[in-house]
Amino acid sequence: MIELKNSVQLDKMRSAGRILGQLLEQLGAEVRPGITTQALDEIAERFIRQQGGQPAFKGYRGFPATICASVNEEVVHGIPSDRRLKAGDIVGLDVGAIVEGYYADAARTFPVGEISREARDLIATTEAALNAGIRQARPGNRLGDISHAIQAVAEEGGYAIVRDFVGHGIGTRLHEPPEVPNYGEPGRGPVLEAGWVLAIEPMVNLGGAAVEVLPDGWTAVAKDGKISAHFEQTVAVTPQGPEILTECPKKKPYK
Ligand code: MG
Repeated sequence: MIELKNSVQLDKMRSAGRILGQLLEQLGAEVRPGITTQALDEIAERFIRQQGGQPAFKGYRGFPATICASVNEEVVHGIPSDRRLKAGDIVGLDVGAIVEGYYADAARTFPVGEISREARDLIATTEAALNAGIRQARPGNRLGDISHAIQAVAEEGGYAIVRDFVGHGIGTRLHEPPEVPNYGEPGRGPVLEAGWVLAIEPMVNLGGAAVEVLPDGWTAVAKDGKISAHFEQTVAVTPQGPEILTECPKKKPYK
């Protein structure tokens, strides 16, 4: 059962999303060689609370922090720690917020100092794959249109889509139906309706698609040790097309 959100509910999700858009801009400015992922987590928690939200991940199934910070071969769900980022690393920062009981969820992968051409290309392609998926988030399309668009961009770039984790509906819970795989067939799956809200989130690996979860029970890494990128936006399906709820208001509107 995919719950449709009305305009009052969407407004709450916009509020949660706006916090995340601003926060990710701010975190991007803080990411630099020498900073710890724990310091980024503290900035995130303080900002979300100052803005009147609550961190959505902290305590979720026992997750201990406000952000997930996933470095290099870590795909998703990395736990912030005293690890210092160093030049040449890439770091995926994933964060959720709750406002008046409504959730938003967003992620970006940032370069730490100067990074390799290989890493820059992976990041750019992963973001392009997300945007290709978002463009399909309009009433009358099918879920498989989103999935396929993401997969096509990633695989044309020569990369592997992670299949063990998928995007999701979002609303009064962090994860609601439907699942939003980052691979699939166009023209398949349920028909999108205005009022759906989806967290669309490709995870793209430089090497193979296989991932494994470390003994901490959270951190998912690429099995072959090669780098991975992750981008996520919370997107409402509206009669006018996709509306990104987690964009930074200072950035140009989505075309
Ligand atoms: Mg998510």
